[in-house]
Amino acid sequence: MLLGVPKETHPGENRVPVTPESAKKLVRLGAEVQVEAGLGAGSGFEDAEYTEAGATVVADREKLLGEADVLLRLRKPAVEEIGLMKEGCVHISYLDPFNEHELVHAFRERKISAISMEMIPRTTRSQKMDALSSQANLAGYVMVIQAAAHLPRIFPMMMTPAGTLKPAKVFIIGAGVAGLQAIATAKRLGARVTAFDTRPVVAEQVRSLGGTFLEIDLGETGETAGGYAKELTPEQIEKQREAQKAVIAESDVVITTAQVFGRKPPVIVTRDMVEGMQPGSVVVDMAAETGGNVEGSVPNEVVQISGVTVIGKGNLPNHVCRDASVMYSNNLFNLVDDVWNEEESKLLIDLEHDMLSGCVITHGGEVVNETIKNLLA
Ligand code: NAD
Repeated sequence: MLLGVPKETHPGENRVPVTPESAKKLVRLGAEVQVEAGLGAGSGFEDAEYTEAGATVVADREKLLGEADVLLRLRKPAVEEIGLMKEGCVHISYLDPFNEHELVHAFRERKISAISMEMIPRTTRSQKMDALSSQANLAGYVMVIQAAAHLPRIFPMMMTPAGTLKPAKVFIIGAGVAGLQAIATAKRLGARVTAFDTRPVVAEQVRSLGGTFLEIDLGETGETAGGYAKELTPEQIEKQREAQKAVIAESDVVITTAQVFGRKPPVIVTRDMVEGMQPGSVVVDMAAETGGNVEGSVPNEVVQISGVTVIGKGNLPNHVCRDASVMYSNNLFNLVDDVWNEEESKLLIDLEHDMLSGCVITHGGEVVNETIKNLLA
């Protein structure tokens, strides 16, 4: 079975879906692996390393796309690329299927089995394939490093003959995978950390990392069966904003990571809250690209609001592209390995498989994922 890995084309994307190490493991599985020339350049992986791993390096992208039985990549393809792919092949990448309806239809029409990395079930068994988590983890780390780089103060307390410096105060809103890593990173740097999340179950996790959990009584919030936050009512959001105001005003750094799966992120830090912070303070909005948790944040830019630096940079894992590539590529390899049939030496799409039933979006000319099917109906 021929596995093809085309180069990422999104501007500035340096991550690589398959590292030479993963290519080697795929070859060991019995697959033939073709990678596009220059595939790993952005993350410092050279063509020669892929060749040494047993893969073939090809320069002709269209040929690679047209011949592969399975395409392994990071970002969703352009709709125009679908026509170049082999009918009935398997395509694995992030897909954004909630928003990319045209893409889903194009996959369906070409009878491609499209697997969405975002839709891998968040179960214990699928953890090793969970790219949302692996990349969010790194994003949490990167946000703290960016905040520290822009803050005109240091994070740890320092007692020196030249004076005593107080630790920076960091407030983290949203303590999922990214938020928890941000808490851990800020603590490691010596900051005093407070955090809030609408899922009460998170309070203990925040405390176990050495953070203080901000208690806000929002009434019933709970979480979905999948462990995701439920959307708050407008009244609850208002209550949350009010209760956070004082903590935000006295924080040196505010990091927001609040998401509600399949929805636009909630706006939880308003412009007047940013204006209420001390000049020189830093706000990092992880959701800037998808609508923003912070009023006034600008996607992919660093802006000043009343002397407060507001960071809205997107694609955060790309800032540590080498490690992000290693993690994503491990996720991808684990997925292929999990559904690889050794006897036939091929990847099998079985819709009864508990992991595949969640993340296969189209198969055999149909939209097979129930959530996306209902969305498109
Ligand atoms: P996410 O990216 O969907 O959301 C980030 C955080 O924002 C969540 O913790 C959410 O509760 C929080 N949030 C939403 N609205 C908020 C608001 N108004 N104010 C403050 N916080 C708000 O979350 P995620 O990081 O992808 O994790 C989602 C869940 O999935 C968590 O329970 C996590 O533990 C779980 N998970 C499980 C596994 C597994 O078992 N394999 C793997 C990864 C994540």
